[in-house]
Amino acid sequence: MTWHSTCSGAPCKRSRYFYDVDGNCRADYTLGWGPLIVGSNHAGINAAVARQLEKGYTYGCQHIAEIELAELIVDSVPGVQQVIFSNTGTEAIQSAIRIARAHTGRDKILKFEGHNHGWLNNVLVSYRPKIVDSTLPQATCGGQPESEFTDTMVLPWNDIDALKDFFHRHGHEFACVLTEPVLANSGSCMPRPEYLETLIELCREYGAVSIFDEVITGFRIALGGAREYFGLEPDLSVYGKALAGGFTMSAVGGRAEMFEVLRDMRTIHSGTYNGTTFNIVAAIETIRELRKPGTYERMNAHGKAIAETLTASAAKYGLDAAVSGVGTVFSVHFGVKQAPRDYREMTRTDMETYGRFRAAMLDNGVQLLPDARWYVGTQHDDAVLEHVMEAIDASMKETM
Ligand code: PLP
Repeated sequence: MTWHSTCSGAPCKRSRYFYDVDGNCRADYTLGWGPLIVGSNHAGINAAVARQLEKGYTYGCQHIAEIELAELIVDSVPGVQQVIFSNTGTEAIQSAIRIARAHTGRDKILKFEGHNHGWLNNVLVSYRPKIVDSTLPQATCGGQPESEFTDTMVLPWNDIDALKDFFHRHGHEFACVLTEPVLANSGSCMPRPEYLETLIELCREYGAVSIFDEVITGFRIALGGAREYFGLEPDLSVYGKALAGGFTMSAVGGRAEMFEVLRDMRTIHSGTYNGTTFNIVAAIETIRELRKPGTYERMNAHGKAIAETLTASAAKYGLDAAVSGVGTVFSVHFGVKQAPRDYREMTRTDMETYGRFRAAMLDNGVQLLPDARWYVGTQHDDAVLEHVMEAIDASMKETM
């Protein structure tokens, strides 16, 4: 197929393309692992950040743009009445856990296999567990002392019976349950019907705090993230990545009552850079762009067209492949006929074939992530779609 390997102008627009040090230019479906939902060179964000740089980088006290952003989030996300800000998803997750602990007076937390909640020791367990039939938390890498995750318990995800059984035995011991509402980090697995509802109900029944980790799904699978997509209201949700379109911004949002522990000083939320001005104005511009009519319909249609091309093209060349997720974040799985529903099923997919497909896609001008996840943004227009569809067909042929 024809693909220009070096380009610095038309027909490329920098926002949609990934330029590497060798001068290659590729259609970008990595989006910096998710944040670049409105492109990497958005005029509105650039102008707002430039204006803000003239005014001040960080003030060390509450400022007007923070309030504007908080109001925009509250107006955009169902059931979020109040928010606090920090910089990374990792930090915001820790704030949510601390709020839950202060709120309940309990220490233990529950998370699920294959879910990523940042890189700190109490949550970076059983992310890629080597033993998949154990619910004991397993360190993900070296340098993680067991003493730092003794209060963390782990279950397989998407199993309602296991969840109910666990709550009946331990429900009153837990401060919170953390879940990615779509298991984006391990194959973009969708929750089974009633799974997330049951999780929220069990938390309410047993006095634990339900926390959706929406660092990936927030402002991505819908403007209101998983809350809007699934019509659910957990106690807290955590945002990052797409929230500020590539700037370093995260947030915890939820019912106002959940933040009482901060108001009455039972706990604290601190951080020198929590309100850094240019991140805040970047988030405001990102959300304004995402709120434009038709934005999510267009992104979803784009992603759906790619997903359909992936499965049709795989079938054409005799490869088993299934796609899971939604239009704006999805994964392609080789070697299976049905999309996996949890981490355990995902370990059975054929990543070696995906590796060959990804290498072929790179040669055909499309930049993809190593873990088979695709991210779609507003910058992906019909010209990119046409190119990626041709690239998929050519790459499947080379992969078979
Ligand atoms: N939660 C989820 C679902 C994530 O995917 C990630 C990072 O990829 C995090 C939390 C941590 O966010 P950050 O990398 O901004 O610290």
